[in-house]
Amino acid sequence: MHIFLANPRGFCAGVNMAIRTLEAAIVRFGLPLYVYHEIVHNTWIVEDFKSRGVKFVSSIDETPEGSRLMFSAHGVAPDIRVIAEQKKIETIDATCPLVAKVHHEVLRYAKENYTIILIGHSGHDEVIGTMNEAPDSIILVERESDIYDLEFDSSEKLVVLTQTTLSVTETQSMIDALRRRFPQVVSELNANICYATQHRQEAIAALAPLVDIVLIVGSGNSSNSKRLAERGKSLGIKSILIDGADNIDLNWFKGDEKVLISAGASAPEYVVQDCVKLLQKNFNATVEERQTCTDSLSFQSPID
Ligand code: SF4
Repeated sequence: MHIFLANPRGFCAGVNMAIRTLEAAIVRFGLPLYVYHEIVHNTWIVEDFKSRGVKFVSSIDETPEGSRLMFSAHGVAPDIRVIAEQKKIETIDATCPLVAKVHHEVLRYAKENYTIILIGHSGHDEVIGTMNEAPDSIILVERESDIYDLEFDSSEKLVVLTQTTLSVTETQSMIDALRRRFPQVVSELNANICYATQHRQEAIAALAPLVDIVLIVGSGNSSNSKRLAERGKSLGIKSILIDGADNIDLNWFKGDEKVLISAGASAPEYVVQDCVKLLQKNFNATVEERQTCTDSLSFQSPID
């Protein structure tokens, strides 16, 4: 067996910043410490912080008056900030700056009387936060078929924004469909899909054709991890999303395969290495890192 390790893979700048911020907050402020939703969408990270006493809440009602609350990398709706202030909760904002940028764009376009077509997944933490910046000005579109249900006058000002962790190819095809139907629509190439999502998908596109099977390390609720597995499948390569080495079924392999391993932006490197070790132990696998581009961004923590 030969393993190609995709590079870049795993943690992005936003996830790094959010995890660093939570680590620093534990040291600086101690417990109790609350986090609104999962700090990042990864089982290992969340379970580790839980075991150290951090409390994850899914509603602001679960956060006591006067407590300390961190907002996750996915951002929050503005009304959550207002309620937190009313409850005299001390907040630490670990929203990824690239998500915050989308919030600012929503506010700017809404103020300029645009109707915002947001491409994203209903119910995702990031989409909930983004839509609530200007709920009366935003329409969510999840799939290409939704576009054919939209009705706008040619005089209506329209702009497309997106969730940060979508499939680059599917989103571009949806933007093209929107442009055909509503030529006045304002949009940028790939809109708001972040650099980390793009780089990891590009690596899969370049390397998956070299292998028999693709393993993506990431949790089932991680949007960018799921998109990586889908990218591999779209190229006709068997591609499987795994939370960790325990999810690997050795029967998937005969032992002479070429395997590509990558990881979503919230998946820790030690989980990737556990998977590599398992395959080395059972199939005497050799390992080769393949770099397709360089991630060079980093973000400062709000409590650095
Ligand atoms: S995936 Fe992109 S938008 Fe999301 S936290 Fe990472 S850098 Fe930020």
